Amino acid sequence: MRIAMISEHASPLAVLGEEDAGGQNTHVAELSAALAGEGHDVRVYTRRDSTTLDHVVSTPDGYQVWHVPAGPPRRMPKDELLPFMGEFGTWLAEQWRDGSWVPDVAHAHFWMSGLATLHAGRRARVPTVLTYHALGTVKRRHQGTRDTSPPGRIGYERALGRAADRVIVQCQDEIGELVRLGVPRARMALVPSGVNQEMFRPDGPAEPRDPSRPRLLTVGRMVERKGFADVIQALHAVPDAECVVVGGPPADLLPADTFARRLGALAESCGVADRVRLVGAVPREEMGRWYRSADLLVAAPWYEPFGLTPLEAMACGVPVVGTAVGGIADTVIDGLTGDLVRPRDPWALGVAIRRLLADNTRRFAYATAALDRIRSRYSWKQAAEQLIAVYAAVTTVGRPTSAVA
Ligand code: UDP
Repeated sequence: MRIAMISEHASPLAVLGEEDAGGQNTHVAELSAALAGEGHDVRVYTRRDSTTLDHVVSTPDGYQVWHVPAGPPRRMPKDELLPFMGEFGTWLAEQWRDGSWVPDVAHAHFWMSGLATLHAGRRARVPTVLTYHALGTVKRRHQGTRDTSPPGRIGYERALGRAADRVIVQCQDEIGELVRLGVPRARMALVPSGVNQEMFRPDGPAEPRDPSRPRLLTVGRMVERKGFADVIQALHAVPDAECVVVGGPPADLLPADTFARRLGALAESCGVADRVRLVGAVPREEMGRWYRSADLLVAAPWYEPFGLTPLEAMACGVPVVGTAVGGIADTVIDGLTGDLVRPRDPWALGVAIRRLLADNTRRFAYATAALDRIRSRYSWKQAAEQLIAVYAAVTTVGRPTSAVA
């Protein structure tokens, strides 16, 4: 099958950890690799955000990345990209209409890619599938007036959900959100993300650590909703433990980063600065070393469309203390593979961390159960196979000629 993946701001080739580069980049990269590994012909289309990028890059994982000229060839915040989606969609339509490579299906990631993809799909008669990754309604609820999304986002997301041939949802919570938005349940297919079990495994090298104190790890883009501030405040209830924060800009740029400075100031004011270590962005290939060095992963977002980091930790045999939100409520089984607490409650978080650190037997049992859960349910191969079934269904529906035949 010829599969087009459209991921306007999140390139599978990007360096991760900064504000707009995280889970979606990983998701598109891993899924494309898994689909290519199953023998499919995969092209990822992402915005050309630098003049130094080649037009087409062939990856060692067997898929291609096409850099689409839409808007200025420099990095821009994703919330400023909407005006260029018409250009993006028109470029795609022209490519696909010229006939040399026409996808059987176009899978858009994030709502803005959805706009470009629907535009191109209609013109080139290509069926469309959409994964939102994040929803404007949820972001608005949590961020209120600080939400920098373009004003029409929620309306576009509703319209896209009704226009796409299928919507891929990643967790139960997202189904509820979309039903409330007005997207028909029958259009949705639940396909959770996987985790790369070669990269994230219990055996392998680990970052050095101080053996005399427990290590908590928390990972993510440096944005408020990831709950890093809550983790730092929770340390008060967890004497001795050190907290390592991975993500954000590269280490040398951390001192100038506003959010990193805020976290530093908070750690000072909580009297835990000597136990908090900001590491900055870590290349994906080195993430396993950090997970393996930790006693616990703390994932404390206020909300989380899916959340790859708990899966990555579990695949390394590291138990999770997380907030019961979004995908984390599906992936972490409370009391079996980790402990879940309410979001934005540093006290409850601290108590859960302290209890689990004090109980080696329970931590070991959680780690074993977590690994078992990952191995049985969360591979990218499984995700790719489920998606192929969805693609096959829309390809038949979307092609009147084959439907008649
Ligand atoms: N990540 C990384 N280096 C970093 C920080 C994060 O490689 O310095 C990766 C992390 O391993 C995970 C992704 O970025 O694969 C974050 O995904 P998640 O779903 O947790 O969060 P999102 O970015 O989608 O909000």
